[in-house]
Amino acid sequence: MIIVTKLGTPSVEIERIVEEIRRQKITPEICQGQHKVVIGLIGETAETDTRQIQNLSPFIEQVIRVNKPFKRTSLEFRYGEASEVVVSTPKTPVIFGQNHPLVVVAGPCSVENEEMIVETARRVKAAGAQFLRGGAYKPRTSPYAFQGHGESALELLALAREATGLGIITEVMDTADLDKVAKVADIIQIGARNMQNFSLLKKVGATGKPVLLKRGLAATIEDWLMSAEYILAADNPNVILCERGIRTFDRQYTRNTLDISAIPVLRSLTHLPIMIDPSHATGKSEFVLPMTMAAIAAGADSMMIEVHPNPAKALSDGPQSLTLEAFDQLMQEMAVLGKFFGRWTQNNHPFTTPKITTKVATSISI
Ligand code: PEP
Ligand code: MN
Repeated sequence: MIIVTKLGTPSVEIERIVEEIRRQKITPEICQGQHKVVIGLIGETAETDTRQIQNLSPFIEQVIRVNKPFKRTSLEFRYGEASEVVVSTPKTPVIFGQNHPLVVVAGPCSVENEEMIVETARRVKAAGAQFLRGGAYKPRTSPYAFQGHGESALELLALAREATGLGIITEVMDTADLDKVAKVADIIQIGARNMQNFSLLKKVGATGKPVLLKRGLAATIEDWLMSAEYILAADNPNVILCERGIRTFDRQYTRNTLDISAIPVLRSLTHLPIMIDPSHATGKSEFVLPMTMAAIAAGADSMMIEVHPNPAKALSDGPQSLTLEAFDQLMQEMAVLGKFFGRWTQNNHPFTTPKITTKVATSISI
């Protein structure tokens, strides 16, 4: 249930309402919107009479029951207002949100060595990315596949951060590594395979750090939002949702199926920012560009792109990784659509005269 207060409600009156709610053994959560203060009521409110709440103050404009299982995550909880996730990076804070420029995250699947991570960081930054991604702890289907360099890779990410000023996104798989990851990461990634690892969600939420929550391979949108709810319930509102493709039946030509429809659907359900990862979604570098364009057109707030200086030699996810040059080109093409939708700033991109060359990759031989 949420209480929407009238414009200009004095803060003493908000405090009085909040006290009154607490007396009823319900936890109030104040959300300062752009124009109005909304108070979310957390707890057993099924039996609570909305009229009784309405009568608490003449400054209450409306009392709305949130009938969905996800509460803090719901759009209603913020009275329809998109939330902003503000992430501090070495040079400047970066804002993820519907009313902000697109945020671009780029980097290799795994941190392999100092030279490759620092070179990639410098190049993606020069092309206009704001965050460097790179795995230190890798969730691999095979226990015999490269598992990531762990702690030493975190140190290399810290080096790359220092060298470029880029923010860092990296995944945590195990609560035992959380402190180490949280020291280096500006945003902590929870991977698709851990989306429903509820004890991990609670602990990552409790760090207070921004969290990138990837959609599980076979998670419904409601499953996904319920997982986000765990983080918000740990008093951490800084969650970014990342659609990275879901499992469908074709495994021959695409690795996963990018659920583009998740973008408008999420927009109608939640206030949280939305990121798209076309690299894991398609599994093939030649499809990354058209899917990135589709994601921008559908209204995504951010993109995560895998980039490697030598994809053929990558220790993980080479086939879906763009070369540094291809990423450069992608950024120029993103600028065209980004500008068209009013979601591009000078900070995104240093180039001035991008030209569009988008075409769907074709290699047909009959
Ligand atoms: C990754 O980002 O490298 C990764 C493993 O992603 P996902 O959890 O989406 O598979
Ligand atoms: Mn990967």
